[in-house]
Amino acid sequence: MTMRDTDRALVQAASAVAKLRCRSAMHTLATAARTPDGRVISAVNVVHATGGACPETVALGTAATQGVTELETVVTVGDRGRSLVAPCDACRQLLTDRFPAVRVIVGPPDAPTPLPLTDLPRHPTQDPDNFPDVAGSDGA
Ligand SMILES: [Zn+2]
Repeated sequence: MTMRDTDRALVQAASAVAKLRCRSAMHTLATAARTPDGRVISAVNVVHATGGACPETVALGTAATQGVTELETVVTVGDRGRSLVAPCDACRQLLTDRFPAVRVIVGPPDAPTPLPLTDLPRHPTQDPDNFPDVAGSDGA
């Protein structure tokens, strides 16, 4: 999919929120989500020992609070200039259930790409090649 001007603006919005609000270990990621009519909702994650909340989850809660019922595109960026971050497995499921047609912008900062949720590359934690070998494991 091709990046639109509105996609670039959404990445800039998420980056601006990350730069402004992600200045502690408690907030490390920022999400910006655009509605079909062009409204932008932004949110940051909450890191906490109890599990905290991903920025996508906070953004969906914020959207609901504001009466938003449709999201078109979502992007998450890391703090301190880190790259775009794909949603975790739980957030992918949440987005799939709530907004199955949403596009997610992923990729390196110099070549971001909007993709349908179903086309996102597998999350590293889902890839068996990324699981470390465990000595003594029975392989089950
Ligand atoms: Zn998540």
